Amino acid sequence: MADSLEVSLKKIAQVADVPDGYIRVSAPLERENIVNGDGLRAVLWTQSCPIHCMGCQNPETWDYKAGTLVKIEDIKKELSKFKGQDGLTFCGGEPFVQAKACKEIADFVREELGWNVWSFTGFTREIIKEHGGDAWEFLKSLDALIDGPFVLAERDLSLRYRGSRNQRLLHLELGTGKVLRIE
Ligand code: SF4
Repeated sequence: MADSLEVSLKKIAQVADVPDGYIRVSAPLERENIVNGDGLRAVLWTQSCPIHCMGCQNPETWDYKAGTLVKIEDIKKELSKFKGQDGLTFCGGEPFVQAKACKEIADFVREELGWNVWSFTGFTREIIKEHGGDAWEFLKSLDALIDGPFVLAERDLSLRYRGSRNQRLLHLELGTGKVLRIE
């Protein structure tokens, strides 16, 4: 069952305790991924998730103290070496509890590498908008968002990029977060 708005807002406020200039990741950067968004993509796997969906495939990413702290500048340098990618996708863990760091990386790949940017989140776009702050700023820097928690009872392996029917693939207007199209 989905959390109430109040519970979701408390969870999204559990921002990862990461020093300025760093991001906590759960795995090395990936390249040439074709299953987490359109085209050939780099993937950044974030660590920390307060949502705890039943049936989550990556429960080892929930812990706020696990994973590896990496300098954002080192992430940028590594991404710059990836050739021929169409975009970057943020996966989790929950990227929106590290929204400030994710936005800095999103802006970098768009402006310096010319890539588009997608993110997964277990929150809905509406909760992120209600929360505001860095989370909403990060959302406004995206081209697409796959939103909503994984719900085991709604599991459907035929969906593009999504695990359960409640999740949406939202194509967004850059800079405003407006929904252009829903899949
Ligand atoms: S939001 Fe994602 S990482 Fe977090 S528990 Fe749900 S499926 Fe797992």
